[in-house]
Amino acid sequence: MSTVTAPGAVLPTYARQDVTFVSGEGAWLVDADGGRYLDFLAGIAVVGLGHCHPAPLAAAEAQLRRLWHTSNLYWTEPMQLLAERLSERFGGARPFFCNSGGEAIEAAIKWARRVTGRPGIVALHDSFHGRTLGALSVTGQPAKRAAFEPLVPGVSFVALNDAEALAAAVGPGTALILLEPVQGEGGVHPASAEFLAAARSLADRHGALLVLDEVQAGMGRTGTFFAWEQLGVRPDAVTLAKGLANGLPIGCLLVADSAPAGFEPGDHGSTFGGNPIVCAAACAVCDSLTPELLAEVGRRGEQLSLGLGKLPGVLEVRGRGLLLAGELDRPAATVIEAARERGLLVGSAGERTLRLTPPLVVTSAEVERALTILEEVLA
Ligand SMILES: *Cc1c(COP(=O)(O)O)cnc(C)c1O
Repeated sequence: MSTVTAPGAVLPTYARQDVTFVSGEGAWLVDADGGRYLDFLAGIAVVGLGHCHPAPLAAAEAQLRRLWHTSNLYWTEPMQLLAERLSERFGGARPFFCNSGGEAIEAAIKWARRVTGRPGIVALHDSFHGRTLGALSVTGQPAKRAAFEPLVPGVSFVALNDAEALAAAVGPGTALILLEPVQGEGGVHPASAEFLAAARSLADRHGALLVLDEVQAGMGRTGTFFAWEQLGVRPDAVTLAKGLANGLPIGCLLVADSAPAGFEPGDHGSTFGGNPIVCAAACAVCDSLTPELLAEVGRRGEQLSLGLGKLPGVLEVRGRGLLLAGELDRPAATVIEAARERGLLVGSAGERTLRLTPPLVVTSAEVERALTILEEVLA
């Protein structure tokens, strides 16, 4: 039996908005009819340096003409250069490269179980770690999980910033404490420094590993290269993905030198992981995240959150740096649509939560323009 579908149709896993983009530059996108949009979603916190930024573009283009793929049976220079850069930023660490955030979480789960020989994982309610079965198993959102059970066993969930509940959940069977420094998809809720300190000391006391999922919050998004730098807690590993190559697919589990390597040859792998083109782009991203740009992220974040808090219908502003959300007195979907019609792209993180993750290079004038459009929409 065959059904005729529309040309270009894909499986309906997304509630896709009916607009087709054909080009982009900086914080701006252009649709197929020539309409221009100020992009305050940046591909869901991915295109940190803005669309077609010259540095990763030149790096990827040069590598594209030199070498595409060799497999992980050999070394390539871009992969080693990226490993060096990430290690330097972390203060001593070794990466495993893969192709997405979900895959980075899969690697983190396997690594923690391999190192500790234990099954247990403690994660948080309302967390988001990806859609693959392992990543879904540690994602604390019942609506996303229910249809796909049974999932990976051994996972328990506690509330964000509830150190007492965390202490009750972590024990001698715990391999991994996994949390986002700022819960992204779950509504842009920052973890408190006290909660992270509690997680660190519980992991140390019980011989568990603390992994911070910085897939969304990392790569300068909160105003420091890693979000943990602002929180006074050094994790045993972080996961990275979204902003790492400015839109080319990449994921990474970055394990601190102070933690066991765990993996041995044959334990884990990825055919495409560490792809030279993508790693060359990611090196350029790392080099572009200068102290000046990171300081600017803080300033633009302050400007945007202050402005957002003054808008009609915004009940609360949450987040760090340029990972921000406004809790609204109305459904976010209608605001997203009206803003798009006025040439501004924004996202949601929950029914009434407006999510703003502009490129890190967004200008003060662009922030003002976005606030003006949002004010019109919300008035
Ligand atoms: C987006 C996201 C993921 C999943 O990344 P994919 O590349 O979509 O698999 C995991 N963790 C966090 C915190 C995310 O924001």
